[in-house]
Amino acid sequence: MSVYVLGHKNPDTDSVAAAISYANFLKATGTDAVACMQIEADKLNPESKTVLAKFSLAAPQTMMSVKGQKVALVDFSDYGQAPDDLKEAELVGVVDHHKIGDITTGSPIFFYAQPVGCTCTVLNEMYKTKNIAIPKDIAGAMLCAILSDTVNFKSPTCTDADKKAVADLKAVAGVTDTDSLFMEMLRAKSSVEGIPIKDLVFRDYKDFNMGGKKVGIGQLELAAIDQVAAIRADLVKALEDLKKDGRHSVLFMLTDVVKEGTDLIVVSDDVAMIEKAFGGKVNNGSMWVAGMMSRKKQTVPPLQKAFGA
Ligand code: MN
Ligand code: MN
Repeated sequence: MSVYVLGHKNPDTDSVAAAISYANFLKATGTDAVACMQIEADKLNPESKTVLAKFSLAAPQTMMSVKGQKVALVDFSDYGQAPDDLKEAELVGVVDHHKIGDITTGSPIFFYAQPVGCTCTVLNEMYKTKNIAIPKDIAGAMLCAILSDTVNFKSPTCTDADKKAVADLKAVAGVTDTDSLFMEMLRAKSSVEGIPIKDLVFRDYKDFNMGGKKVGIGQLELAAIDQVAAIRADLVKALEDLKKDGRHSVLFMLTDVVKEGTDLIVVSDDVAMIEKAFGGKVNNGSMWVAGMMSRKKQTVPPLQKAFGA
């Protein structure tokens, strides 16, 4: 009977790559295994889709119910993140990098966890320990998972072990530039292609009452501002329409998460006041505000002050 290897619900790139990697590891060590995920393939997040396509890997098999099956978990160990009928399955293994969850078993199992930034870092170590070669395509996906989970080494969860694993895996996968690989994933994650303008405007939008005036503020997080170049005019038009609907100002934050700043689109009855609030100049309808990442912490307070609210 095959072991079904499963990552957590709403799978991220680590859950997908680790399921593929651990299933391959089990097969290489004489246990038949199938990589699975708890989502339909077309609903998988755009970053993971990009990674699978880049390394020509098939998506793990969709598996929503595991009753009566042999199961191994990767990247989690909580019932809440598992199929609802996990208790009716035979759990045989866990590979993870989180705190231990609430799962229990009636029989001894393989359980391997490390306090590192990514499950694929743990798996890389398992391959090395057993002296099993990682196939090139799988190494590529594992590499992406580590870059994703550690936010290209910037996350406080990133360890030296993750950096060493990336060095190992990039050699196997034939990847030379992991920064550009990370950017490619970030672009996929923040892609605006094919999304209706209205959905982009309201993806993360809020109206505020500032000194009796209605002020709308929206935000899009991007890998680079040029991601919206082609739709910028339509976006501004939608914001102008929004302003006409009883608002004093509509501000829209195009936040560059790499450069750590915001191109702030300003549509307002009093542009000078907005300029003063952020100490900048509006050019062609927007201004660059270095360091502005958070609407709540960095955009709203100066505005409230300016509006005397
Ligand atoms: Mn995860
Ligand atoms: Mn993870």
